[in-house]
Amino acid sequence: CHGSEGPMPVRRRQTGPVPALQQAFHAACVQAGFGTTQDKNGLHPAGLGVTPSNNIEGVRMSTAMTHLNPVRHYLNLTVRGGVFARKIVIEDGKAVGVEAESGGKVFQVEADRVVLSAGAIRSPQLLMLSGIGPEDHLRQFGIPVVRDLPGIGQHLMNHLSAQMTFKVKDGISLAADRDAVHFALHYTAPESSAANDMVLRSSTIVDERQEHIAGVRTKYLSGDVPPERAARISCTLGLPDGSGYVRLASADPSVQPSFNYQYLQHPNDVRRVREGLRLAVKLFASDAYKDVADFRIHPADDILANDDALDLWIRQTVGTARHVSGTCKMGPDADPMAVVDQYCRVKGVKGLWVADASVMPRIPRSVGAHATVIMIGERVVDWVTAG
Ligand SMILES: Cc1cc2nc3c(=O)[nH]c(=O)nc-3n(C[C@H](O)[C@H](O)[C@H](O)COP(=O)(O)OP(=O)(O)OC[C@H]3O[C@@H](n4cnc5c(N)ncnc54)[C@H](O)[C@@H]3O)c2cc1C
Repeated sequence: CHGSEGPMPVRRRQTGPVPALQQAFHAACVQAGFGTTQDKNGLHPAGLGVTPSNNIEGVRMSTAMTHLNPVRHYLNLTVRGGVFARKIVIEDGKAVGVEAESGGKVFQVEADRVVLSAGAIRSPQLLMLSGIGPEDHLRQFGIPVVRDLPGIGQHLMNHLSAQMTFKVKDGISLAADRDAVHFALHYTAPESSAANDMVLRSSTIVDERQEHIAGVRTKYLSGDVPPERAARISCTLGLPDGSGYVRLASADPSVQPSFNYQYLQHPNDVRRVREGLRLAVKLFASDAYKDVADFRIHPADDILANDDALDLWIRQTVGTARHVSGTCKMGPDADPMAVVDQYCRVKGVKGLWVADASVMPRIPRSVGAHATVIMIGERVVDWVTAG
């Protein structure tokens, strides 16, 4: 089901001692009847297992390191930083280059083939700025329509998480070894048609990673518990049914597009997160936690007991991942919202591919998008080379 000799090193952190909180989470899941799995990337990822990682001795392996570095010396490869793509130049239905800006100068780069990899927010923006997208929306911004593709910018997905927090007993260390195990539980929500659509994980509130926006992790902790003594079980909606959108905010390429995840608007999404949070609370109430935790902080009992109150609490506290995807989704011609074909070629425009997370018809349920994006890139290289 997957190889082991590709350029991206993957490992399962399991050399260090298992932190007490991870032991408790593992024991609680096993007591609740969940099975275990050796390979979360394998054919049978269901159940409790160690989260795979490409963090090698504290360094996350990026594709710049694993894929680009080995070929940087190629004479037919030029990589330029600080160049901002403004739009794709299209003539007679064929991509013939890119309009770009660097050092205050706007210029055109000519090309036989153009591969767009600006990510799931910027790729649809660039397509729309180039006249490819929902016709009405383009006209609204005075952009001449090259190709009406209503799916561009639609179907935006990203993982959301809700969390149950608790006070860790004094004396229990929350500082984990860099190589320490992190477990994740993949399970199928009751009445779900897709397997392993939900993920529970346990983590501390404060860890060695610096917050990108100060206070985000701790803002929903209230009361007397300092963040350093709190931990959580988070419930992630691995396969959402609902989706959002990316839209232009301006015809000016330097103006960021607007987007909305439209989280928790699909009834099946709210239901699964509500039930997932209650499952987390049930795991926490088991014997497995009695030596490591004092009490639950959030959600409070009265909120937990009432569906409407819990749904509101989830909406107020929900967190997001960084797995934006789906805004130029792959699909058959029968699907009017499909943007690229099975070779990632933009429908109705010659010489133009999209190779990034935007082509994903569904967000990967593994609760990470990086490996899938790399796979897409590697596949598109073959298809572009083949013409
Ligand atoms: C903080 C963080 C942590 C993450 N952690 C994980 C994780 O642990 N596991 C996991 O699986 N995934 C993780 N992800 C998600 C993963 O990084 C993304 O899914 C993946 O990088 C998406 O790849 P992409 O090619 O679609 O877009 P990107 O990686 O965003 O690449 C798009 C590139 O296009 C460039 N670009 C955009 N617009 C223009 C323009 N107009 N001109 C020129 N260049 C442009 C951008 O600068 C960027 O370099 C994380 C993401 C973030 C932000």
